Amino acid sequence: MLRFAPSPTGNLHIGNLRVALINHIISVQNKEDLILRIDDTDNERNDSQMIENIVRILQSFGISFSKMFSQSENLKFHQSIAMDLLTKRKAFCCFCSQEEIQAKKDKAKKDKKPYRYDNTCLSITDKDVLEAEGKPFTIRLRSPENNISFIDKVKGEISLAPFEVDSTILLRSDKKPTYNFASSVDDMLNDISLVIRGDDHLTNTPKQLHILNSINYDKEINFAHLPIILNTDGKKMSKREESSSVQWLISKGYLETAIANYLLLLGNQTPKEVFTLDEACEWFDLSKLSSSSAKFDINKLNFLNREHILISDDIFISEKLGYSDINIGKLIKLYTEEASTLEEIKSKITKTINKKETPNEWKENYNIIKKLLINREFEKDFNDFKNNISKESNLKGKNLLKPLRYILTGEFNGPNLSEIYPLIYNYLLKVTA
Ligand code: GLU
Repeated sequence: MLRFAPSPTGNLHIGNLRVALINHIISVQNKEDLILRIDDTDNERNDSQMIENIVRILQSFGISFSKMFSQSENLKFHQSIAMDLLTKRKAFCCFCSQEEIQAKKDKAKKDKKPYRYDNTCLSITDKDVLEAEGKPFTIRLRSPENNISFIDKVKGEISLAPFEVDSTILLRSDKKPTYNFASSVDDMLNDISLVIRGDDHLTNTPKQLHILNSINYDKEINFAHLPIILNTDGKKMSKREESSSVQWLISKGYLETAIANYLLLLGNQTPKEVFTLDEACEWFDLSKLSSSSAKFDINKLNFLNREHILISDDIFISEKLGYSDINIGKLIKLYTEEASTLEEIKSKITKTINKKETPNEWKENYNIIKKLLINREFEKDFNDFKNNISKESNLKGKNLLKPLRYILTGEFNGPNLSEIYPLIYNYLLKVTA
């Protein structure tokens, strides 16, 4: 069983979508189910609207799940397992207040040392616990005695010393689980065989393995941590950068198939450059993924978007812009010569098939040609049309073609008019009104 585990705290980030796509591919390849786990342990930042958005977006990419659940539904298991660890003395109650911990963190920062829990409450007795009745406490897991190591399928061997694994908090003072604890327990309860997630969780994994060892869970879980995506400045792409939001990319007119293609190409060796998710399921290989971070390159995404527009069905692509016309589909494809997103192309199509304002350039010739077009019985063939207009107006070359192009497309430059003309033939009365 595999799982994709987004936190419903913001818009779906392209890094998360990449994780979801790769989970989908591996689940198809391994014929294992994929489940959607909503990581709602951060009560203050949860946004239920985000859950709907995430599910809708994943569906639009063709990613489906055999089950969906929220971590909060497993609260009783988290609490009872923590109590069990407490009884077995693998965990302990920690009465350090947030202020005390913060002061120690500040001191460590001042001394330029990493902060780790100093085991203040490690040897607290049952009697102390009873006497502290009413005082808030967290439940911490004892740090391990030995290094915790594992082989990551992308990053290779990872090992963390006991000091780094630290005395992880399992339950906070409100007795709700931390992410690390809930994640380990939920992975166990769902019989997860492979965890694929972002490498921002790399140092969480030894903590989670230590939690699972402490619970005596002995089934192996494999891990693959995907490198983060950097922006063009080489910095981690923050959630505030528009192009990091999947929703934003879709609203700008990037096709889901192109976004998926781009994210699967990043830091990867693939047999071809332009492909669909289904094709990727046939040859995708985790071991070919680079272990270092990849840079987001909007030009590459633009290229792939144009390619995916070109290979899509004419009606499908025309419906994306609100039409249901094979010719508009073909026109959209033609405009990929000079535009990359459906948003840019839409403004060109709208201009093309509607009436134009009189331009400042070529005004005189525009008016001459315009008159010849009103209520005209249009020639089927563009060359006949052009030659007749040339004869009727006495205009030739640029003097004819520039204003004519403007009347037909609203621009002075663009794709071949002879290719545009048959595609807008049915709209010509409106175009020239
Ligand atoms: N909820 C975490 C995130 O969105 C993922 C945790 C996981 O996959 O274990 O980064």
